[in-house]
Amino acid sequence: MTHWKEILQSSVHSPTELTRYFDFDDTALQAVCASFPMRINPYYLKHIQSIGDPLWKQAVPDLLELQDSTCVPDPLCEEQLSPVQNLVHKYPDRVLLLVANECAMYCRFCTRKRIVGTPLMAISDSAIEEGIDYIRRTPQIREVLLSGGDPLLLSDSRIDSILSRLHAIPHLDLIRIGSRVPCTLPMRITNELLTILKKYHPLYINTHFNHPTELTLEASAACNFLADAGIPLGCQTVLLKGINDNANTLKELFLGLLRMRVKPYYLFQGDLTYGTNHFRTHSSCGINIMRKLIGSISGMAIPTLALDAPGGKGKIPLTPQYVISNGSNLIFKNYCGELCSYPENGNAI
Ligand SMILES: *Cc1c(COP(=O)(O)O)cnc(C)c1O
Ligand code: SF4
Repeated sequence: MTHWKEILQSSVHSPTELTRYFDFDDTALQAVCASFPMRINPYYLKHIQSIGDPLWKQAVPDLLELQDSTCVPDPLCEEQLSPVQNLVHKYPDRVLLLVANECAMYCRFCTRKRIVGTPLMAISDSAIEEGIDYIRRTPQIREVLLSGGDPLLLSDSRIDSILSRLHAIPHLDLIRIGSRVPCTLPMRITNELLTILKKYHPLYINTHFNHPTELTLEASAACNFLADAGIPLGCQTVLLKGINDNANTLKELFLGLLRMRVKPYYLFQGDLTYGTNHFRTHSSCGINIMRKLIGSISGMAIPTLALDAPGGKGKIPLTPQYVISNGSNLIFKNYCGELCSYPENGNAI
């Protein structure tokens, strides 16, 4: 099998290179890559079936990225919420530690697209050690989320070193890794990597699939290897206009993920990130999709639809409204739209 690093090295990095595989007009797209990097590795490229399909739209630059007059570079104010470089402390008991600046592909809708894959996201050994040191001296932190970029694009030895230092911190309950490689470069999940990851339980991985055509045999094998290593797998999907913004597509995705032993965790309403406005849906779109899915398919397949509030105010669940009134009876509609009543016991508190 070709080594994952060799696959990554053969990635397409410009629209002009992509014209070797697809017949399209690339001239205006070079300007987009000057602002936001492009990388499509041969594995993901192989699964793009036609121009404009759901994988193409996630991976190929679009002029609309430069025609965004609504969004802002850092909508979640991650830079203001960083007590030390590359660490975001937004919630009381958990922190986000950015440990990598590369990804196996550069998603056009990425929340951190202003920095990911560019020199602006400077990650050094000393910055990582500073982040780990902040966690060491902050006992209210129970959980660390490793993100970036993609932490699993680091070398095995760097992953081992970061995990071992975190694992040694007594007040940490668990480590969570956010990684898209099970979807975008599944051959990264090697035996050597699994041997390292297995040493640091409880270790959770949240991966990121957005469309059922990403649920390939290779991706399925990667998820199975991780699950067999005892790692519970979740998925953070982004709701994307023109890609997965309908109930049937998401139903197929979520049920397919469960078959791959991945539990849908979040479905994200699009962030207000500059260069991604064309992917954003109206909030009613996601809520209506959730209304169609909840109850009609397994609860195991249902993620929380969440909006990451602008200004770093945290993730807020967006839920269909079922309750109609709440006096001595709670009056609500069920998942089929039928009116139901539940008699209360005692007074509201
Ligand atoms: C999303 C996020 C988390 C994790 O939130 P959960 O709801 O626990 O998944 C932690 N820190 C930051 C800064 C985040 O953006
Ligand atoms: S894998 Fe994640 S961090 Fe990397 S470009 Fe895609 S969305 Fe952004």
